[in-house]
Amino acid sequence: MNNFEINNSDLFNFYVGIDDTDSVSGMCTTYICCVILDRLKYCGFKVDGPPRLIRLNPFAPHKTRGNGAVSFKLVLKSKKEIETVKKLIIEMVEELAVMEDPKTNPGLVFYAGNIGDQLYSELRNYALQTIRTIIKLDEAEKLAKKLEFEVYKFKKGRGVIGALAAIGCPLDDATYELMAYREPANYGKKRMVDADSVREMNKKTYPDTFDNLDDGYMAITPHTPCPVLYGIRGETPDAVFEAQRLVKVSEPIESSMVFITNQHTDLHLQIANTISQMNKFQCYIVKGTVKDFPVVIEGGHVIFTLNDESGEVECAAYEPTKHFRDVVRQLAPGDQLIVYGGIGKKGTLNIEKMEITHLAPLYEQINPLCECGKRMKSAGTGKGYKCPRCGNKIREDSKEEIEVRRKLKTGFYEVPPSARRHLSKPLVRGIEQ
Ligand code: ATP
Repeated sequence: MNNFEINNSDLFNFYVGIDDTDSVSGMCTTYICCVILDRLKYCGFKVDGPPRLIRLNPFAPHKTRGNGAVSFKLVLKSKKEIETVKKLIIEMVEELAVMEDPKTNPGLVFYAGNIGDQLYSELRNYALQTIRTIIKLDEAEKLAKKLEFEVYKFKKGRGVIGALAAIGCPLDDATYELMAYREPANYGKKRMVDADSVREMNKKTYPDTFDNLDDGYMAITPHTPCPVLYGIRGETPDAVFEAQRLVKVSEPIESSMVFITNQHTDLHLQIANTISQMNKFQCYIVKGTVKDFPVVIEGGHVIFTLNDESGEVECAAYEPTKHFRDVVRQLAPGDQLIVYGGIGKKGTLNIEKMEITHLAPLYEQINPLCECGKRMKSAGTGKGYKCPRCGNKIREDSKEEIEVRRKLKTGFYEVPPSARRHLSKPLVRGIEQ
């Protein structure tokens, strides 16, 4: 199904995709989008629907942070208006993008016309590839040319990859994020957002909004020097607007904008039928059996091996996943899991969430019981056991095996909001079976 409306009137649908405008030292592609849209509205151009914030492959090599790209649609009255709008957008990207950073390589794509089913099908497939695999710039440019999109590259123009995907991404499942932006004078300073009001907002709006808190602490404010004061994520525009009314701040908000987004939809996950089928830099849902007891390695990361008949993969719950590691540490050989996560550079599957479908029985070897009913003690290495009450002695190999009661329960477990990938679907949004 095409989720783009066909315009049968004399008006022109005009699509805009933008990516790769920011740098680690500042700026944010969503903010540039907000400034551009405010200017276009001020100039009297009609913006159709909310802008889209599309998260792409979390393992893309050149991402700054969350690998987000944006797009929006305008409905324009004439070809002349299209030219005016293009010029304005190009100028604004040039002015606002962090051009001096060698890693910032903005890309802009424009499409004037209706996006019919055939065009949408190619765009959609491309967008899914960009969310799930690594794409080369010339592949993106080739497709843009074939589909008659107009492309503007600034410097290397790598942003074209994301800009095209931001227009084509299907949003059959979608969430919304309300971004509130700071006044430039406050960039880099402590964010003046009242934590109690965020707790109150969460109480009133969760689960229509989610990921507001992490372990009781405010999770809506970023930790980078970017223009974002806070971002509220939710199921509908009404839910995030309601939440904004409840959040108290003691610094000015320059502007706010609600984006429709593929965040928290699991669109990045592919089903792997076997472990050996998985590739680096991609994200999967995969079944397997725990091979060994998890170990805690330097840095507090918890690691174990998952296997199936095709092979094995190292799985990790990294330190930032905090209490989730307590669950992973309790896994034991033979436990059966469905793991949701992505494979990084070193080939380790980074767990986003998991379902424990079966818990294996776990046994412990204990000293034998004496005939007199007392638990025996070791008589020394290789010397068997001796009863501390009656003095009875028995052979070394007579340890007793008992089944240990497992505290862990079957079911779903997920990482906390602060460690969650933008694309990861929180359990409160449900689970695809
Ligand atoms: P922010 O989230 O703060 O806006 P970012 O993390 O989105 O920043 P960008 O500055 O947009 O990072 O850089 C990501 C770059 O990677 C862009 O040029 C984008 O076109 C490109 N890119 C995105 N997805 C892929 C992919 N799957 N394969 C190859 N390149 C990609």
